[in-house]
Parts: sequence; C-alpha cells; structure tokens
Amino acid sequence: MPTRPLISAAVVGRANRGRVLQALFDLGPTSRAELARYTGVNRSTITAIVQPLVDNGFLLEGAPLPAGGAGGKPARPLTLSPTASPIGAVQVLQGRVRSALVSMTGDILAQDTRRLPVTGRRAREATDAIGASLEAVLAAAKRPPFGVGVAVGGMVDTDRGSIVEVNLAPALDGLALGPALASRIGLPVLLDHHPRALLLGDRWFGPGRGISTFAVLYTGEVLGGALMLGGHLHRGPAGAGGELGHTFVQVDGELCRCGRRGCWETIATLDWLRRRAAEAGLPDAARISTAKLCRLAAKDPAAARLRDTYARNLAVGIANLQQTLAANRYVLHGDAARGGEPFATAIQQHARDLVPEHPGGRPTVVLGGDDDRAALLGAAGLVLSDQLQFTV
Ligand SMILES: [Zn+2]
Repeated sequence: MPTRPLISAAVVGRANRGRVLQALFDLGPTSRAELARYTGVNRSTITAIVQPLVDNGFLLEGAPLPAGGAGGKPARPLTLSPTASPIGAVQVLQGRVRSALVSMTGDILAQDTRRLPVTGRRAREATDAIGASLEAVLAAAKRPPFGVGVAVGGMVDTDRGSIVEVNLAPALDGLALGPALASRIGLPVLLDHHPRALLLGDRWFGPGRGISTFAVLYTGEVLGGALMLGGHLHRGPAGAGGELGHTFVQVDGELCRCGRRGCWETIATLDWLRRRAAEAGLPDAARISTAKLCRLAAKDPAAARLRDTYARNLAVGIANLQQTLAANRYVLHGDAARGGEPFATAIQQHARDLVPEHPGGRPTVVLGGDDDRAALLGAAGLVLSDQLQFTV
C-alpha cells in the first residue's frame, strides 16, 4: 500500500524553499521584501530560507537599488545563479540521443549528439550510447549536478523510470533506462514522456512561465501532448496519461499504427498530410510539411483547402480537450508549429468554432519555442520539479 507520511519540519522546510525558488522563477529578480509580500510571510522568514542559498552560491544577490521614498533598507534583487549546480538533460529520439548540461537559469552549457542503435535486440548498446553522451556533458560541470532528466518520445513508465514502447525503435522497448543511468553516473535520474518534458520546458523557461493551466501539443510523425492543470503536471498512474494521439475522434475511422481505428493521430499527423497532399496533386507530396503547405496555400487553392482541413483536424482534438479540461492555452510544438502564426490562428479559429463560449475562457493556440531546446530544458525541468520540491 502506498504510504502517506505526515508533514515533518524537514518536509515543510523543503516545501517552503521550493515555493520561494518557484516565485523567483516566475517573477524574475525579486527582493526579499517583495518575496515576503508575494508569499505572505515576514521578511525574516524569507531571509531564513534564502540566506543559506545565497551563502552556498545557489542564489545571487544584486547591488542595492536606490531607496524608494518610503525609506527602509534598499532592495537587493535576488536571482538564480547561472553558476549554481547544473542539471543533466537527455532527449532520446529515434536513432539519435542528445544530451545537455543546463544551468538553473535555462542556459545550455554543454551539448552532445550521437547516433543511437534502435533496431533489433541492442538494448545494451543503446544504453551505452545514451550513458556515454550523458557523461560527455556532465564532464563539463563545475559543481556536482543536481540530477538528470530524460525525455523519451514513446510510452514510458514514470514509476519505474522505464520505456514501455517506442514506435520503430524495438531496442528500447521495456528498457529500464532510468535505473541503468542512475547506477552508471550515481545521480538521481527522472524519466518522462517527451511532450511532458516540452510542457515543463515551457513552464519553467518558455511561454508557460508563471501560468498554472495550459496544454502542450506536439505534432509530426506522431501526435502527443501534456497537461498542466491548476499548477500540477498531470501524468496519470505511472505516466499513462497524455496519450492524446490515440484518443478517438472518429468512430471506426482510419486504421492507426496502434491497431485501433479513428485515433486523433490518424487525421492530424504528417502521414495523413502526405496522403492528402498526393490526392490533391500537390508537388513533392511525399515530403510535404506544414510549413511547405502554408507556402503553397498562398498561390494554390487546393493547398489552401488542405491547409484549412488540416487546421480543423488539429482543432478537433483541441476542442475535445477544451470541453473536458478547459486548459484554455494550447502551446504548439513540432511540425504544426512551423506553420507559424497564421496556421496557429487558423487552428485557434476552428477550435473556437467547435466549442461553445464560456466565461472561463476560450481556446488560444500559441507557438512554442525551438523543440529540441524546449525538450532539453524540460528534461532539466523534471529535476527542478522533483529535487527542489516545486509544486508540479
Ligand atoms: Zn492509435
């Protein structure tokens, strides 16, 4: 039976420290007095929390700002230190692994990319390649890293830190990658689903900064997503949630690669777009992308019609999410994001047409930042959330 420990003084201390650090992430440079106001405690309580963090170099205290008219001590803004202990981040892709050393301020300090053997029974080789890539970036750390976050583009078991299944990468199926890396490098390792890493990258360092409810959608060869609801990253048991690509949008619809029919993925990924582009006689249909489709749409009515249908197909799933969870803000990553603002606006318009108005808000579709960078920052965000007791 899972235990439910009572709150000890040590746990309260870590939780309060997490809240203060989270406030610094969300607000940017902030003085002790402002932090006290924001968190509803007195200044001496804030000092008791932040002083050890200033002393050990985790936080920096800036030069005193000119005193305001009210007198009192001049404010010295606190910021996270770019030279505090860094975080290891790994992104496991089909046939490729990318690792980075990430600072607390979201800067990538070192990077490594290498080939990943994923076909056949090569789990040992794959683990060695990932471990070697990670070690290459950890070697650049000037202080002992906090831990390592791993983002995997496939089904994962977040309780065990293992990969359940990755499409077209059988060497990784069932691989207990988290424990294997943890014993190799002697640091805590947290493993999660790629879209959830994107969401944390956006939450801590991107367009979701300071926002407590929003969703991320990743499109391309597959479709995935993740949800931040009321300040909590929703995972579901063992990370089973968020398989948005396989939610049904069409009863008895097209056959999906998962073996079921009518999944959202069957109408809102590049595979669908290539087939429909070929049917419409568009040039180079086998290599179409949303960006290319949007360029063609400016001069070809058939491309413009396909672009609109594709935007609607993406909006259908967003409308379902909006009706179920009212996430309101949907951050696009992957191929669809490269359609730019006009394509995001087209998806948004269709989503709004499909959902009745409500005073709680309407779906808004925005573009996420660079995918690879967001995934690496998000993998680091897994560690921030866990090791620093942030409230996700
Ligand atoms: Zn499916």
